Amino acid sequence: MIAECKAAQVGCMLVVGGPELRGANLSSSRAAVKVANTYREVLANVGLHPWSVLQPLDEALYHQLAELAHNNSRVVGVGEIGLDFSRETPPEVQVEAFRRQLRVAKELKLPVNLHIRKATPEAIQILKEEGPLDRGGVMHGFTGNQEDAQECLDMGFCIGVGRIMLAPVTPEAEALVRNMPLSRLLLETDSAGLPPQEGSPRFTPAATRMVAEKVAQIKGTSLDEVARVTSENARQLFGLDRFGI
Ligand SMILES: [Zn+2]
Repeated sequence: MIAECKAAQVGCMLVVGGPELRGANLSSSRAAVKVANTYREVLANVGLHPWSVLQPLDEALYHQLAELAHNNSRVVGVGEIGLDFSRETPPEVQVEAFRRQLRVAKELKLPVNLHIRKATPEAIQILKEEGPLDRGGVMHGFTGNQEDAQECLDMGFCIGVGRIMLAPVTPEAEALVRNMPLSRLLLETDSAGLPPQEGSPRFTPAATRMVAEKVAQIKGTSLDEVARVTSENARQLFGLDRFGI
């Protein structure tokens, strides 16, 4: 897969803490760290994904998360964390886990990788209440509207787009990207999920190139320019220079 990414000129990728099968734990975060320690092109984010937060979490879990991030130099962010109100998980439980993990990111001076679905105004409110993060973060797989996007930009966050640039692109998604400063955009694929549509190519981080092509087309600029600026955005947000990537 890494060879496939290199062929598509995707030189660096992030593996994140994702949804767990059995409630909140750090299995996928530990796996992300392992992959990042194995391949020089891969770095890790660690976090308790909102899909996994089914009940109030044990305090010890936040300590373990902080330790995992602190003890592994290839952990460059806390994520995915956030709110997903399209799930049946009790919102107040998700909110608590979100707040606690924002504090972990603050303590460790790491950026955050946010998964927010059907909860953008609520998430923005919490981010305001919790106060600015030293290192900012990215709203991954952004699905909010134009006003939400502007609020996120005003708070210093980057906006991540992937899937919405691969499926048949809606006019709203196109307008969102057209109005977004390239200097605040990050490209992603959210791999390895399902392909965006039947018959579309296998979905790996290599598809980031297709996202970049679409963004270039929408913004009326070159693929090289999109690649250069969004790579620089990622480099700055996650502090990638120290890895020589
Ligand atoms: Zn996500």
